[in-house]
Amino acid sequence: MEKNRLYEDSSKCCGCFACKDACPKDAITIRATEAGFLYPKIDTAKCVNCGLCIRICGYKKGNDGNKPEEVFAAASKSNAILSAAASGGIFSVMAREFVNNGGVVCGSAMFRTETGFIVRHSFADNENELKKLAGSKYVKSATDGVFREAEEILRSGKSLLFSGTPCQVAALKSFLRKDYDNLTTVDLICHGVPSLQLFNDYILFYEKKHSCTVMDLIFRDKSRGQGMNCRITEKSGEKTRVKVMDGRLSSYFGMFLKGSVYRENCYSCPYASEKRGADITLGDYWGIYQEHAGEVTKAGLDNRKGISCVLINTGKGADLWQRVSEDILCFHSKLEKVAAHNDRLSTPSSKPADREHVMKSYILNGYESVDEIYSKEIQIKKYRYILEFHMPKTVKRTLKRILSTQA
Ligand SMILES: Cc1cc2nc3c(=O)[nH]c(=O)nc-3n(C[C@H](O)[C@H](O)[C@H](O)COP(=O)(O)OP(=O)(O)OC[C@H]3O[C@@H](n4cnc5c(N)ncnc54)[C@H](O)[C@@H]3O)c2cc1C
Repeated sequence: MEKNRLYEDSSKCCGCFACKDACPKDAITIRATEAGFLYPKIDTAKCVNCGLCIRICGYKKGNDGNKPEEVFAAASKSNAILSAAASGGIFSVMAREFVNNGGVVCGSAMFRTETGFIVRHSFADNENELKKLAGSKYVKSATDGVFREAEEILRSGKSLLFSGTPCQVAALKSFLRKDYDNLTTVDLICHGVPSLQLFNDYILFYEKKHSCTVMDLIFRDKSRGQGMNCRITEKSGEKTRVKVMDGRLSSYFGMFLKGSVYRENCYSCPYASEKRGADITLGDYWGIYQEHAGEVTKAGLDNRKGISCVLINTGKGADLWQRVSEDILCFHSKLEKVAAHNDRLSTPSSKPADREHVMKSYILNGYESVDEIYSKEIQIKKYRYILEFHMPKTVKRTLKRILSTQA
């Protein structure tokens, strides 16, 4: 590879910026593509060609993870944790264990600012601060600067729980260049991330359409059970309104779920595999009733509140799992059972045929055109989504049962 070239093409960079954190001359800057995806760029005036940025790249090293040793279906015993979490709230249970024993937790947080939302990894050392880390944010979470701070914490002897996408965990480990006994890592089963710019453009579009300001957005609302509903807190004049909607009715969520708006490297992600680089892996336990019909209620779990799949990948992971066992409800499962409903444990998301068209259209004509494409695509289905969303759960379940016996 030629000197000063950080990555071969856009599919070979996950945008973690470990290279930026590692550079002793602060010679790496951030550049954004027109679609808002961030990439590192070398400032040749400052660069001394030491090559550390290239050697440090975790993404280049690929996936050297382990196959899980044990697999569980699990959820927090606390309803408060469950309602703020994307699935079973296992992340928050583990995070509490750390901060209540003098440790620090690093995970993704989302903030509203005057100019839009910021999604970036932040640190927390008490239960109150942990609240900002709860829940999935379906956007790229920025990590520049985070690896340096994590290293300082580890060097100070404090224990650190780092949680993120598999590429972010690989980036941290590669940045550190040595194992730390006081570091525990958690990664998510991940299907890909859109850019923060696209998300903020969606917010602007939404605000214009509904004449409001979006104060808050929760990607996974559970007031109607576990699923892909989002919750938007909007303000217009003096009035504040909380709106829950089926994610499939929003062009941002719809395009996210379909996979049309991910960062380029997500479509060839080396970490979408059973081999896991973190001590523990968390995901949604899709298909739990098919795999464990009798055990769910027996164990006191309830999928309307959220159930996670938990993969214990290392001894350190097993040790943490043991430490939080009193605060969770769980039972043993198998990797094959989880993977049967979660393709991201075997292959990266495939790139939909319309991905280039959607992104080009976004760049040329703005977010409105993305919304138009999506609206055309779902057409009549929109009414089905609305109907399903408003239908009482009992009716929905009965209908599903009837339809499955007809099939
Ligand atoms: C972009 C993305 C894609 C996902 N895709 C899948 C999938 O295909 N299949 C599946 O089973 N599960 C997927 N998940 C994981 C799932 O949504 C839950 O996060 C997971 O089950 C853990 O839930 P929890 O209830 O234990 O904790 P939660 O409280 O929901 O987890 C919170 C923690 O997750 C991490 N996190 C949240 N958002 C981000 C982000 N944008 N970037 C990095 N880290 C983040 C943070 O550290 C955060 O603090 C995905 C999550 C994200 C963020």
